[in-house]
Amino acid sequence: MSPSETAVIVVITLWFAALGGCFGSLLNVLVYRLPRGQSIVYPPSSCPKCGQAIAWYDNIPIFGWLLLLGRCRWCRAPISIRYPIVEAVVTLQWTAVFLLLLAVQHQQSNGEWIDAVRALYERQSPLLNHGAIGIVFALYWLTGSILIKLDGQRIPRTWLCAGLVAIAVWIVFAVWVT
Ligand SMILES: [Zn+2]
Repeated sequence: MSPSETAVIVVITLWFAALGGCFGSLLNVLVYRLPRGQSIVYPPSSCPKCGQAIAWYDNIPIFGWLLLLGRCRWCRAPISIRYPIVEAVVTLQWTAVFLLLLAVQHQQSNGEWIDAVRALYERQSPLLNHGAIGIVFALYWLTGSILIKLDGQRIPRTWLCAGLVAIAVWIVFAVWVT
């Protein structure tokens, strides 16, 4: 693999990792607010102690917490380490599923790694791509369910419905792409 091909694969992998981090950040909001019947869009996140809104740069998955050393920027109240851990877990899930997808595609396309990237981009194996999307969202839903249970909350109906709707949409697309 040439350095430029390696760079392409590293950049795409980092892109999926970053996307996973953002979804992890969203999951922190969902598992807290949904069981409490709160809106997931309003109000924006704020420090529970001093009420200061959390700036976007302090909300960057994993790094926001690390740069603040786990404390609120304004009142220095500790921020639970659970937030960056959840973000890291989802980041790892997305990265692992992407690399697995790439590995399977590489095996199928029987060429260079960069050919496997191209095959994914051109959706040469649509069911394979679709399977990976299914796995990543199934893991997401399960992770959220575990967190809600850890908090001693009941799984909210909206979370169950979202899971069922996702399965229905996934099946429709699976039939459509084959
Ligand atoms: Zn604060």
